[in-house]
Amino acid sequence: MATEIAADRTESLVEEAARFSASNYHPLDVVLERGEGVWVWDVEGKRYLDMLSAYSALNQGHRHPAIVRAAKAQLDRVTLTSRAFHNDQMGPFLRELCEATGYEQALPMNTGAEAVETAIKLVRKWGYTKKGVNGGRAEIIVCRNNFHGRTTTIVGFSSEHQYRDGFGPFAPGFREVPFGDADALAAAVTQHTVGFLFEPIQAEGGVIVPPAGYLKRVREICDQKGIAMMADEIQTGLGRTGRLFACEWEGVRADILIVGKSLGGGVYPVSAVLADAEFMEVFKPGDHGSTFGGNPLAAAIARASLRVILDEDLPKRADELGGWFMRELVALDSPHVAEVRGKGLLIGVEIRESSGTARPYCEALKERGILAKETHGQVIRFAPPLVIETETLQEVLADIAEVLQG
Ligand SMILES: *Cc1c(COP(=O)(O)O)cnc(C)c1O
Repeated sequence: MATEIAADRTESLVEEAARFSASNYHPLDVVLERGEGVWVWDVEGKRYLDMLSAYSALNQGHRHPAIVRAAKAQLDRVTLTSRAFHNDQMGPFLRELCEATGYEQALPMNTGAEAVETAIKLVRKWGYTKKGVNGGRAEIIVCRNNFHGRTTTIVGFSSEHQYRDGFGPFAPGFREVPFGDADALAAAVTQHTVGFLFEPIQAEGGVIVPPAGYLKRVREICDQKGIAMMADEIQTGLGRTGRLFACEWEGVRADILIVGKSLGGGVYPVSAVLADAEFMEVFKPGDHGSTFGGNPLAAAIARASLRVILDEDLPKRADELGGWFMRELVALDSPHVAEVRGKGLLIGVEIRESSGTARPYCEALKERGILAKETHGQVIRFAPPLVIETETLQEVLADIAEVLQG
């Protein structure tokens, strides 16, 4: 009886959301009401392991005590001042972020897409004022299969038809090259090119890892041609791939670094663009802004979120656990799996076309208490919070094996 009522509650909440929300998502039929660490609970009291981590916005896990404590303390002080005045959290936040990443300056925003837009404005103005590109002609090179967010400018340079269709007209000034092809990048640079915007691993695009040496070549080409290397590490950054930033895997430093997602610890949206003063100084008062960017609540939460990543050495955990987990997934030798790929705890399991799409596998995982989401039809993404324990991963491996070998 009790479970029946609970099941009814799931159904009515799913129906309510379907009725009153735009249908721009197709979620699994699970209604969550509580989260802690790597676990979430639905309204029926059933516990699940979160293997998506809100697309890597929860690297520190759900409601990490240190982040929640910082948020609560700041809620009792001041939450929003606007940038018309200073607040006592933003300066320390940006200093700590610059120290952790090795850049001279940062510009705080809220969502990832806003930070990407900010980077686009930054590199264009840098191109006009410092590189002498002709007014209005600046060009940014992007990668096929990219994902940088959902604003009209950003979807305008997406190669994904569904992201674009029906939403034009789009902003000009973008040129596309294949991801992972450094020669194509070198060939695409013109006198108008100001920057190359890329993800070190294409996460939304299906966890696509570029060939070894690609990032190094990109760095060389950007140096030779005098264009800005712009790394979107919103999903790959802050420990996810086994390094603080995925670019570190090849020992390269981008000119412009874009961060978001886990910078807010899953508690609050916080994003930022990082660069040295040579770039950042093109912004003058009034050039750019955000009502909420750099607000004291965001800054206090981001400071705590960053501290957790560094203090708990989450990049190292992702490296060690991810390497082991990926080997185990390969060892399952499932007849339905075409490829297992990724880095750290950003892992994609590509289902063979002949075995159908990834969605039914995600539904079967859900029945076994594992929440994962398909991306690009064929790929199951496994990206649990980086605070996950080895034993927990070991336990779910048995369930994953059943689903993938069934
Ligand atoms: C999620 C994501 C974005 C967009 O972030 P939002 O906060 O959803 O706007 C941009 N780039 C990458 C690589 C992402 O993964």
